[in-house]
Amino acid sequence: MSVCRLILLQLNHLTADLLASCDADKSADVIVMGEPLAEATHVKHHKKKIAFLFSAARHFAADLRKKGWTVEYAALDGDAPAEGYRDLVGAAVQRHDPERIVTFEPVDFRLLDEMKGWGAKFERPVDILDDPRFVCAHDEFGAWAEGRKALRMEYFYREMRRKTGLLMDGDDPEGGQWNFDHDNRKPPKKGLDVPERFGVRPDKTTKAVMTMVDERFTDHFGDVAPFFYAVTAKDADAALDDFVDNALPLFGDYQDAMVPGEPFLFHAMISMYINAGLLDPLVACARAVAAYEAGAAPLNAVEGFVRQIIGWREYVRGIYWREGPDYVNRNALGADRPLPDFFWTGETDMACLRDVIDVTRENAYAHHIQRLMVTGNFALIAGLDPFAVHEWYLIVYADAFEWVEAPNVVGMALFADGGVLASKPYAASGAYINRMSHYCSGCAYKVSKKTEDDACPFNALYWDFMARNEKTLRRNPRIGRIYQNWDRLGPDKQKAYRRRAKAVLDAL
Ligand code: FAD
Ligand code: SF4
Repeated sequence: MSVCRLILLQLNHLTADLLASCDADKSADVIVMGEPLAEATHVKHHKKKIAFLFSAARHFAADLRKKGWTVEYAALDGDAPAEGYRDLVGAAVQRHDPERIVTFEPVDFRLLDEMKGWGAKFERPVDILDDPRFVCAHDEFGAWAEGRKALRMEYFYREMRRKTGLLMDGDDPEGGQWNFDHDNRKPPKKGLDVPERFGVRPDKTTKAVMTMVDERFTDHFGDVAPFFYAVTAKDADAALDDFVDNALPLFGDYQDAMVPGEPFLFHAMISMYINAGLLDPLVACARAVAAYEAGAAPLNAVEGFVRQIIGWREYVRGIYWREGPDYVNRNALGADRPLPDFFWTGETDMACLRDVIDVTRENAYAHHIQRLMVTGNFALIAGLDPFAVHEWYLIVYADAFEWVEAPNVVGMALFADGGVLASKPYAASGAYINRMSHYCSGCAYKVSKKTEDDACPFNALYWDFMARNEKTLRRNPRIGRIYQNWDRLGPDKQKAYRRRAKAVLDAL
């Protein structure tokens, strides 16, 4: 039987409104969904991430069927599993002979390039529609970026505030300033009272997916259990409510803090829901703003949260699609050291890295500062190969899709794009980690020591990084003045730092 359109909803398209946005017709269109093996294995994704996406997709497909849509779903453990989206669509084209194929923007250039060949392959029109779930369309980002000497998130963010009207007081920013980041750098107090976070007990569907993932992806990183993530829009919404009620008030104050045993602190834990489509980013912002207006959350917290979503999230997306497929291969600082094994095992005496890798293995989650200033900072100052680091981040986090992961890793954490995304490398010694965390007191290394055998490795690696990249970084206006401190150290101390860094790097 010939149908009007075949609508492919990919694993990041779990949003019912997408169907309305393409005028889908229940009586004429067929929706195709599934669990293509390649989406779990093109890099060996974390088991919890695969379980989250597949279970969420199964729930979403069941919900669409209940609402009267015709949905064909190819489960990986079903009768007709698919290698990739192409096979999923190919089989459905054979069955339904649709007039055209419709889908939405995929998560990376790998898929986009493949989909661009589908028209010829399937001998019918293929529409790859823009994703309407973002605030800033590609042409709008292009127009904003065009002709600028440097792209900076802060200016882009102001445009998004004006466009959405979020936290605006007429033409002015609420509270008289755009950005309250300087209030958001509090170190964690001893005995900080951290709220218990919302979690969902796995239902029958999730349990079946967890078993399948455990059996089929044995050599993938991470633990599938305990599983506590929401897999439906309703539960993702409840997770948002829980964040706004219990964590948002202190989100700003402790945004940069790190406490062993408290992987979530006051963070939202919603990126995987937003990226898969279970939660609308603007709904999340509106709920936070409503808490501010009701006097339940302070402006520094709410502005910080809104900035992450309509600022950073939109900005990194704009950069990814604008910079092109070679972005993930950039290596402006010429870093080439292989990823140490402990990124997979967590077996290191460095307490900060051990904790971040351990919680990542358990939860497929680490919060922003753990990703940026512990694993990211280490990868930067140790000169790890950016592509290997990019693959690691893409594998280990439940929210990782290349469009959002790559700019954060290649641009923000590693400065491997040469400054397209960030104005300076986020390099730091152990002093930063000590100030913002409770890691160092439980570490085998001494953060106060600089070049001795038991000195914190971050201390020598930091100066070694600055020395290795002096030619590029000395002229950087935001970091260049640090070389005055390097110069003041004098040749003997400089040599001692570099000797210690060499010993650390050789031991990797
Ligand atoms: P919160 O800290 O509570 O922030 C609220 C929301 O803001 C997040 O849910 C997210 O949607 C958005 N957000 C915050 N910061 C960013 C950012 N820099 N870029 C995009 N969105 C942001 N985020 C991903 O979604 N996927 C990734 O693969 C990813 N990889 C990262 C890799 C590195 C090296 C770094 C430094 C950051 C990465 N981020 C990534 C951004 C950020 O760390 C996560 O979005 C955040 O930690 C998710 O946790 P949360 O929901 O508790 O966020
Ligand atoms: Fe990390 Fe250094 Fe502190 Fe140890 S001493 S936890 S390695 S920053």
